[in-house]
Amino acid sequence: MGVSEVRHLPVQVETFPVGFFQTNVYLVVEPSSGEALVVDPGGGLPEIRERVRAQGLSVRALVATHAHFDHVLDADLFAEWADVPLLLHPADRILLEQRETQLRSFGFPVPRALRMPPVEALQEGVTLTLGRVVLEVWHTPGHSPGHVVLVEKARTFALVGDLIFRGSIGRVDLPGGDAVQMQRSLLRFLQELPDTIWLFPGHGPVTTLGDERVHNPFLREGGIA
Ligand SMILES: [Zn+2]
Ligand SMILES: [Zn+2]
Repeated sequence: MGVSEVRHLPVQVETFPVGFFQTNVYLVVEPSSGEALVVDPGGGLPEIRERVRAQGLSVRALVATHAHFDHVLDADLFAEWADVPLLLHPADRILLEQRETQLRSFGFPVPRALRMPPVEALQEGVTLTLGRVVLEVWHTPGHSPGHVVLVEKARTFALVGDLIFRGSIGRVDLPGGDAVQMQRSLLRFLQELPDTIWLFPGHGPVTTLGDERVHNPFLREGGIA
């Protein structure tokens, strides 16, 4: 599931699965500029720091697809290291503030004193530029109120958080989850994006929208309509 098998991307995507839920922390690198983006800073800072150092990269942004604790647990440490704020949709800010509560509700210990990172609001329609690559922010609520995905402007890839996985979709039964909004977010995704687009989910392996359209039982025709 390395990215080496994913061809024709304008970026390199390195995946660092962390923690009990094997949450994918992504280091997205635009090679011509050496500019990088970290998505879902749930952990893995030592490894990512080493990759950034070894390749001489410049981390331009830190993005959370949403603020379930496993996706943002170490956001304060990443923000301090990279000297950038965490970009997060305002509707999930309360979840970020409640990382400790979230940990406890899953029965996990709080590993250290968690601090709030500096936060900047990420909204539908905003674009992020990484060298020659432009990423659009789509607000895709359902799994959480402030869930967003990053869709590359040329539609070669998207970072999709817990919206869609290989063979599954994000659950809607956690606090703030909403099944109707989830259906809407998935429908928009299916209707507006090409089958060839690579999807980098918050958990599990990379896939394409075309593969999911055929094999994902939650997306089959009628399944979400
Ligand atoms: Zn989640
Ligand atoms: Zn998740």
